[in-house]
Amino acid sequence: MLKKFTTLLLVSTILLGSVSATKKPENVILLIGDGMGMAHIYAAMVANGNKLELERCKHVGYSKTYCANRFVTDSGAGGTALATGVKTNYGMIGMSPDSVAVESILEQADRNGLATGIVVSCAITYVTPATFIAHQFHRSMYEAAAADFLKTDIDVFIGGGRKYFESRKDGRNLIQELKDKQYQIAYDLNEVKKINSGKLAGLIHEDQPPPMPERGDLLPDATVVAIDILNKNKKGFFLMVEGSQIDWAGHSNDIEQIIRETLDFDKTIGKVLDFAEKDGNTLVVITADHETGGLTLTDGSIEKGKVKAKFSTKGHSGVPVPVFAFGPGAEEFTGFMENTDFKGKIAKLLNLK
Ligand code: MG
Ligand code: ZN
Repeated sequence: MLKKFTTLLLVSTILLGSVSATKKPENVILLIGDGMGMAHIYAAMVANGNKLELERCKHVGYSKTYCANRFVTDSGAGGTALATGVKTNYGMIGMSPDSVAVESILEQADRNGLATGIVVSCAITYVTPATFIAHQFHRSMYEAAAADFLKTDIDVFIGGGRKYFESRKDGRNLIQELKDKQYQIAYDLNEVKKINSGKLAGLIHEDQPPPMPERGDLLPDATVVAIDILNKNKKGFFLMVEGSQIDWAGHSNDIEQIIRETLDFDKTIGKVLDFAEKDGNTLVVITADHETGGLTLTDGSIEKGKVKAKFSTKGHSGVPVPVFAFGPGAEEFTGFMENTDFKGKIAKLLNLK
């Protein structure tokens, strides 16, 4: 009896020990490949000599992307689910279906004293970044989304969309308002790269940045700058990075462009994983808001790095998208998830109130 009890005590002590020893991250970097399904990833992998940076993530899962009123979602409802943990209606930004604003994980991290940032390869006011910072009935309200950046304390945001800040119908000059809030403003990538502390608004294109290869290293380089700045906050940080234009290439059913955009995103993932590996306290989560193009690969050659692509739509499809995770807490992002599970998991791992 006593022996049994001792064994039980020993087993439970070991179990408790292993639970409390589970390391929690101080920082979270969430990377979203807009419209990036498994076929997009594999096409890029084959074209890249059968390898991707993404493969460094050993924890893999799936995210179910349907939204509140449709089986096939858009980036508004898809991003809102990832950012706020709520399934909303097609096209809505940061709101529940009944138009009530919901706090995003970025806003929650900000409220808890963490540094926050967004880096994208589209206009910063466009759909996916907007879901982390704005609360609007419709995804096309770019000037309203720009004004929502002023309502937060976000430390770093880099992308295109300068005109929504300075050439506005309401006459407000948001560039001046940002300067009044101590933001350093950068209008091109070289200016962005000179900044390594404080607050930064990088508005490096008038509207949408060009596609790859014209865009150059905007996404990987701006991401490195953002991490460098955010990592100076002792309380940790939350950063969202989007490979925005994978989706656009999907809409065009252009496999070569899908590969270029996915490889740009993967290069950025490599930079992020290099930091996370060295840091040891950073959780990296990579997923998509939905799949675009209904892409499948009907043939190909590993040796030649070629794939034969077939698309089933010019729009999005309803299939689940893959999830990859790296670092402390990565094991939470395995198996099948709802796209609404991300916010709660990240908030819990960061001990956000
Ligand atoms: Mg997007
Ligand atoms: Zn799309």
